[in-house]
Amino acid sequence: MIRRFQLFVIVIVLVSIFIVGAIGVFFMSEYADQANEQFLRSANDLFAREIGRGVSYEDASATCLQIFGNTTDDFRITVVASDGTVLYDSVENAMEMDNHLDRAEISSAIESKSVAVQKRYSRTVGADMLYLAIYHPESETVIRTSIQQTVYQQSIRSMQYVFIAIMAVTVVLLGTFGYFFSKRLSRPLSELKKAAETVSASDYTVRINTTSRDDIGAVSAAFNKMAEKLELEKQTIEANNERLADLQNMRSEFVANVSHELKTPLTSIRGFVDTLRNTEKVDPAVQKRFLEIIDIEAQRLHQLINDILQLSEIERLQPDADKEHFELCDLISETATLLKEKAEERGITIVFEACEPLPVLADRYRIKQILINLIDNAINYNRKDGMIWLSAKREPNSVIALHVRDSGEGIPPEHLQRIFERFYRVDKSHSREVGGTGLGLSIVKHIAALYEGNAVAESQEGVGSLFIVRLKIADDLL
Ligand code: ADP
Repeated sequence: MIRRFQLFVIVIVLVSIFIVGAIGVFFMSEYADQANEQFLRSANDLFAREIGRGVSYEDASATCLQIFGNTTDDFRITVVASDGTVLYDSVENAMEMDNHLDRAEISSAIESKSVAVQKRYSRTVGADMLYLAIYHPESETVIRTSIQQTVYQQSIRSMQYVFIAIMAVTVVLLGTFGYFFSKRLSRPLSELKKAAETVSASDYTVRINTTSRDDIGAVSAAFNKMAEKLELEKQTIEANNERLADLQNMRSEFVANVSHELKTPLTSIRGFVDTLRNTEKVDPAVQKRFLEIIDIEAQRLHQLINDILQLSEIERLQPDADKEHFELCDLISETATLLKEKAEERGITIVFEACEPLPVLADRYRIKQILINLIDNAINYNRKDGMIWLSAKREPNSVIALHVRDSGEGIPPEHLQRIFERFYRVDKSHSREVGGTGLGLSIVKHIAALYEGNAVAESQEGVGSLFIVRLKIADDLL
C-alpha cells in the first residue's frame, strides 16, 4: 500500500517535471526563434543599407560578419535576383549555385514583395537552417540572411539534459525519502499487525507502546482499549466459570451428603422391618421396642427432609417476602415456652432476661426458626440441669442482635468456624442421638444472610456457648 503510494508520488512528480521541462523547451525554442529572426532581420537591414550606400556585396557582408560576430559557417548572407539567380553568397561561390526560385522563403518573399521566414534543411550547407528573406523592390533583389539552427538547438539540448538530471536527482531523493518515510510509517503498522495476531490467538495481555498523536497513534490507543476490554471480559468469564464450578461442586457434595444422611435411617428401618417380618414369634416387648426405633428413624427422616426443604426455600427467598408487624420479645418468650417442656425433661432452665419492647416488621416464621434451632441446640448440647439465657437488643444501624447462651459442653475452637456448614457436626453420634440433622445452624446462617446479617458463635469448653445472630431490621414503631 505504502509502496504503491510512493510509486504514485514519484510518477506524479516525474510527469510534472517532464511537463514543465517540455513547456520550458517549447518556450525557449520559440524565444530563440524570435531572437534569431530579429538577429537575421538586423543583419539583413545592415547589409541592405550598406549596399544602398554603394558598397560591394563582399564588403557589406564582411561588415555584417564583423558586427554580428559569427563565423561564416553559422551565419550566411545570400543575394538572389527576382528571377532566382544567385548574385552573391557569403559561403559558396554564387556562380556555381543553382537557381534559388524553388527555395520557399525566396519565392514567397518575391511573391509577397516583403518578408518570408523559413526553417529547413540546406542542401548547400548540409544543416538545418533558419532563413529570413526580404524583397527589395528598388534593386528587385531578395536579400536572405540565415543561421544554422544547430547553434541554438545545442543550448536547448543542454537545457533538456539539465531537466533530465533534475528528474534523476528527484527520483533518487524521492526514493530515499519515501523509503525512510514508509519505514517509519510501516513500523507501527507491522507492530499493530503482530499485536492483532496475538489477540486473535486469545492472548489479550498485549499492548502497543505509542506516543504518536497521529492516526496510527489513535488506532493503537483504540486497539489497547479493545485489548483491555477483552482481557477484562476474559477475566470475568473465568471468574464466572470458577464460581459455576464451585457451585456445581457444592451441589454435588450436598446431594452426596443428603443421600448419605437419608441412607442411615432408611437402612435402620428396613433392618428392623425385616427382623420383625422374619421372626415367627416376636416377643411383644421386643416388637414394641423395634416399632419405637422405626418410629424414631422415620421422624429423623421427616426432620431431615423438613430441614432440606427449609434450606432450599430460604435460598430461593427474597428478603422481603411475607413480612408482618410483631413484637420480637413476645416471639422469643413464645418460642421459649414451646421448648420449655423439652428443656424441663432434662432439668434445664430457660431464662429470658428482661427485654425492651422491640416492634419489628419481618418474616415472623423465619425469625422463629432461628430461635427454635438455637434454643433446641442449647438444650441438646447442654449438661443435665443446665441453664439457657435468652436476650435481644437493638444495636446501631438498624441491627437487632439475638443472644442464646447455654451452660453446655462448649465447642472446641477448631470447630467454631465450621459448625455453620451444612451437615457439619462436632460429634456425629451425639448429634444423631439428640435427633440432629446437621442443618440447624446452616439454616440460621442463611436466614441471617437474608436479613443482611450474620451468625457467630463463642464458646468455652466445659463452660458453655454463646450464639449471636445479627439481623438488619429497621425500627418499626407500630
Ligand atoms: P445438629 O442438627 O447436629 O444440631 P446444627 O447445625 O444445629 O446441627 O449444629 C451443628 C453442630 O454444632 C452440632 O452437631 C454440634 O456439634 C454443634 N453445636 C451446635 N450448637 C451447639 C451448642 N449450643 N453447644 C455445643 N455444640 C453445639
